[in-house]
Amino acid sequence: MPAEIVTIPCLSDNYAFLLRDRATGEVALIDAPEADPILAELDRRGWRLGQILLTHHHADHVQGVAGIRAATGARVLGAERDAHRLPPLDAALVDGSPVAVGGIEGAVIDVPGHTIGHIAFHFPAAGAVFTADSLMALGCGRLFEGTPEMMWTSLLRLAALPPSTLVCSGHEYTLANAKFALTIEPDNPKLISRAEAVAEARAEGRPTVPSLLSEELETNPFLRAHLPEVKAALGMSGADDVAVFAEIRRRKDAF
Ligand code: ZN
Ligand code: FE
Repeated sequence: MPAEIVTIPCLSDNYAFLLRDRATGEVALIDAPEADPILAELDRRGWRLGQILLTHHHADHVQGVAGIRAATGARVLGAERDAHRLPPLDAALVDGSPVAVGGIEGAVIDVPGHTIGHIAFHFPAAGAVFTADSLMALGCGRLFEGTPEMMWTSLLRLAALPPSTLVCSGHEYTLANAKFALTIEPDNPKLISRAEAVAEARAEGRPTVPSLLSEELETNPFLRAHLPEVKAALGMSGADDVAVFAEIRRRKDAF
C-alpha cells in the first residue's frame, strides 16, 4: 500500500484519521473532533500535517480545527455548500472535486442525509473511503437534515465502490448498531458472527472502525433495504427500497 492510515480515538466515541503518502511523507487529517490527541499522534510519529479534510459541520467533527491549524498551518478543505457553517476554508469542494495527499489522489463524493452538506473522501489508491456520519460500521448517520431518499442514494454511491474498500467512519457505535441489526436480520449468519467479533473487540477495548465495505454489504441493514429477504423480514415484501430504508432508519431511531 502506498498509503498509511492511522485511526485516532477522540472525545468519547469519535474517530479522526491520518492519511499519509509513504512516497512524499505528505499527511492529511480527516475530521478534527479535538486538537490534543491529534497533535500528540502527529508529534509521536514526527509527521507534518499539510491538510485538514472536513466531512461535515457538526461540532464533534470540526471543533479541533482552529487549534490544529494554529499549531501546524495546515490547509482546511470542506464542502462549498456548508462553507457558511464550517470553519474558514482554504478550498471549497463539490461532488467530484479532486483531492490529493502527495501522490495519493482522491475525489469528493456528495453523501447528503445526516446533514445536507455531508461529503465523503474516496482515495482509490489507498483503498479507503472516509465516510464519517454517512455510512458507518453496521449503521448510518441519523437523518438530521436530509430525507430517507437522499441518504439511500448516498449509501448506494458508497456501496458501489470496490468491496475491498476500507470504510473509515466517524464513530464507535458498532456494538449498539450490531444489537439493532440483529433485530432486522436475526438469522443472517454473517451478521451473527460479526456481532460476536464486535462484542469481543469492544470487551478488549479495540476499535471496530475502519471496516471493510464487503462486510458492510453482507451485514449492515441500511445497505440491505433493497433485498427481498430484508423486505420480507420487515413485512414489507414488494415495497420500494426507499420506503424500506426509511422504516429501518425509523426503527433504529426508536431502538
Ligand atoms: Zn455528525
Ligand atoms: Fe458525528
